[in-house]
Amino acid sequence: MKAPWHSPVGILPESRLLASVAEFTHHRDIDALDHSMVLSLAELIAVNNVTLCRRGDSPRHPVDSIVVCSRKPDGGFVIEALDPTLDGDPIDTLVCAMATLEAISDITDDGSSRLVIPIQREHTAIGALMLEAPDSLDDVRSMVEGFARIYCNYIALLNESERDKLTGLYNRRSFEQRLRRLLTLQRHASRDVAPDAEEKRRPVGENSQLYLAILDIDHFKRINDTYGHVYGDEVILMLAQHMRASFRQGDVLFRFGGEEFVILLAAQDEAEVHLVLDRFRRFVVDHAFPQVGHVSVSIGYARITEHDYPEIVLDRADKALYFAKQNGRNSVHGYESLTRRGELAAPVSLGSIDLF
Ligand code: GH3
Ligand code: MG
Ligand code: MG
Repeated sequence: MKAPWHSPVGILPESRLLASVAEFTHHRDIDALDHSMVLSLAELIAVNNVTLCRRGDSPRHPVDSIVVCSRKPDGGFVIEALDPTLDGDPIDTLVCAMATLEAISDITDDGSSRLVIPIQREHTAIGALMLEAPDSLDDVRSMVEGFARIYCNYIALLNESERDKLTGLYNRRSFEQRLRRLLTLQRHASRDVAPDAEEKRRPVGENSQLYLAILDIDHFKRINDTYGHVYGDEVILMLAQHMRASFRQGDVLFRFGGEEFVILLAAQDEAEVHLVLDRFRRFVVDHAFPQVGHVSVSIGYARITEHDYPEIVLDRADKALYFAKQNGRNSVHGYESLTRRGELAAPVSLGSIDLF
């Protein structure tokens, strides 16, 4: 392991600095990038710990994720993710730096030096970095700010590669990773909920099951054929905007391709998820799109747990969507309830081989 430096940035060997930047920008996954960045800083500077948080999308959840790299007594490092919904320090201090866009440089109660740098892009904070060290951090402040700027640019690039260009929703490429994150969050939330816990602070734990829904616009070819692709695109864009406005912050929305969308949403049970999806279906059919007028959507959904293969659940939701398409469109169907009612074609048994 490299010896930490705690000297003016001017005498840090450039090659080591560049190696660190190359190391953390090597990652294509945002969570891995966060881990690598806190470790790089902890290795370069003589700190007790380095904390990095990323801002959440809603005022109710100002922090989306938080990761800490701490120096162990033996000189090694340990990296851990903290629960972003917790109150108190370090989250309150990081949120304060993000809100004011001001760096904080002070001494903590135990006499450590603390430096907090907001990570900002276009006058808003996308996150914040916090370092705690036995000695003053004044000399390394400009280096930490440089790391924050590189991180910020790199996050913007990664975010763009995860998004669909037309709608700004997540694209299909980012599906598996988003799903994994959501399942992990849900597992933590449901495990942590104590009887006296503040339910409102639990984004997913308040709803214990996760569902995957596929939404497809009905007779979209007709829209293209009648009004042209430009109006077709406009319908896709406006529908995506209505989805953003209608679904909750914690729900994850994807444009999977063409006029097909996927929604990952948490709900108490099948009845609740059905209600939420059907409310959106009704909203769409009652809404008049400019020029094109009324449009309807069909939705199929299925439950998803950590133990399911995403492709299998996608296939189940697709079967429920297919059922909706075969039965008049403009409707919502759940795979589990269709199966219970025996409405999906039963597997065909051929000897010992089941053909689905
Ligand atoms: P159904 O009710 O069965 O879903 O009928 P549909 O006409 O919507 O059928 P389908 O889903 O097979 O057709 C989707 C059409 O959407 C085919 C393609 O021409 C069009 N399309 C795919 N991507 C885009 C896009 O990005 N923009 C526009 N304007 N049209 C697209
Ligand atoms: Mg369609
Ligand atoms: Mg389609």
